[in-house]
Amino acid sequence: MNANPNPRTRRPLIAANWKMHKTVAEARAFLEAFLPLVRDVQGAEIAIAPPFTALQTVGELLRDTGIALAAQDVFYEPQGAYTGEISPPMLRELGCRYVIVGHSERRQLFREDDALVRRKLEAVFEHGLVPILCVGETLEERRAGRTEAVLERQLRAAVEGLSAEWVGELVVAYEPVWAIGTGETASPQDAEAGAKFLRSWIRELFGAGTAERVRVQYGGSVKPENARELMTENVDGALVGGASLDPQKFAGIVKEAAAAVSIS
Ligand code: PEP
Repeated sequence: MNANPNPRTRRPLIAANWKMHKTVAEARAFLEAFLPLVRDVQGAEIAIAPPFTALQTVGELLRDTGIALAAQDVFYEPQGAYTGEISPPMLRELGCRYVIVGHSERRQLFREDDALVRRKLEAVFEHGLVPILCVGETLEERRAGRTEAVLERQLRAAVEGLSAEWVGELVVAYEPVWAIGTGETASPQDAEAGAKFLRSWIRELFGAGTAERVRVQYGGSVKPENARELMTENVDGALVGGASLDPQKFAGIVKEAAAAVSIS
């Protein structure tokens, strides 16, 4: 037990990214098992990002639970001839609060570049949703000593020139690409260094008040066994892929993370 939880003013956000997993029936079964496990959790906000096809059902099942609905991606136009795409108003209508933007799988597999991520992020804000902006370096970039340069480039492209009010609402997920789905977790020191760097960069551009409001999550092979130690001073929650598919494991992560912080 951590007798001295990490004090902060920001409420940690523990978000599940189910990626391309779970049919509607499987999503229902997950929530049946998961909701009773986290009923008494306080001190951390929970969000679930199912595939688009399960958003409506999951949204209905989350109603009145205090758990937020999130989408895994979005397109930046509100409507139009964009076959296969989903717009911010469509996500709002279903009750989404958060939208993951710029996940490394989108950047790598679907060739999303910084400019596209920026357009999506702005569209999310414009429609009253909150982006979870994913940033992170590859192993090659890390080995070349370019971690901070990459984080700065991705963050700058996404938020420079936006209002401090919007930026204060933002959730940034620091997700080292080499730690996603690999079982290889960053050390708490690495997670803290990345989160601290991102926050100080926001402080430089938008001021201390905004930097204090921004929540910076860590993502990359988070599990119940390491969730608590990863909630360091500048880490305000986690974005969880693989372990969020299992109700027991995800509930374990939520509880461990919530126990690691005290909100003032
Ligand atoms: C993710 O995809 O955002 C992620 C962190 O995945 P995993 O937890 O499986 O590493």
